[in-house]
Amino acid sequence: MTDRPRLLHSADDGRDPPDGLIGSQGANPPLIPTEELLAELRECSERFETATAEEILEWAVGRFGDKFTMATAFGPEGMVILEMLSRISPKTYVFNLDTGYQFPETLQLRELVKEKYGIEVDLLKPELSVFQYEKLHNGPLYETNSNQCCFDRKIKVLQQAALGRHAWASAIRRDQSPDRAKAPIIAWDKKFHLVKVSPLANWTKSQVWNRILLKGNEIPYNPLHDSGYPSIGCWPCTRKVMLGEDDRAGRWSGTAKTECGLHTTDDGPSNA
Ligand code: SF4
Repeated sequence: MTDRPRLLHSADDGRDPPDGLIGSQGANPPLIPTEELLAELRECSERFETATAEEILEWAVGRFGDKFTMATAFGPEGMVILEMLSRISPKTYVFNLDTGYQFPETLQLRELVKEKYGIEVDLLKPELSVFQYEKLHNGPLYETNSNQCCFDRKIKVLQQAALGRHAWASAIRRDQSPDRAKAPIIAWDKKFHLVKVSPLANWTKSQVWNRILLKGNEIPYNPLHDSGYPSIGCWPCTRKVMLGEDDRAGRWSGTAKTECGLHTTDDGPSNA
């Protein structure tokens, strides 16, 4: 994979933007975070505190058109949003950061989403295969430098996917972790130079699962959630949680790391 393969999927005019541009800087037209835009985003975010997630997604699709995209790891929240998108805008470009270390059960959801909703989630892979990457680093980097591993296998791939877009949907909820506690529903995402839309930011875990299990409109979900894995990432960095543990206690367990860096405001691997 080269540095720019994802332009095939991006909403630009087909020409490569100059090097060094990120996110909406590479869009045609680019989206600039002017005071006016930031004020609009703040106003929308406050107003959407009492809106439905569907209303928020409808606004995003109407406001950003084919420059709106979604990243999903097929978590419960992502599955809820995918079901909504299948009704609101099934042609929205959706991608998954396919690190090479995902559980087979996670990847299977890609097929279920395609069958049930007709949405073909693009699996975006890092430049190097797992084999090449581990050979380069004399073994699995997740064991010795998980921040760098997340940066190479997730952040860089999202940066490529974001190029030429204006906005992306994320499935984060405020009560998932302290890092996410203040997440606005709509905000300017400096790291990826995009508008970030989090339609479930103020949802609770119960609301998500009630929607998934809604009789007559059940939403597929990862079967590992029924086996002690409330939060699922790459298999080397995910374990089951014990009774009474936090839902994200099984992610990078035994280390200080709590996020892969997609939803934090820092820029590089040292803080990812
Ligand atoms: S979650 Fe683990 S395996 Fe996946 S990219 Fe990050 S460090 Fe690597």
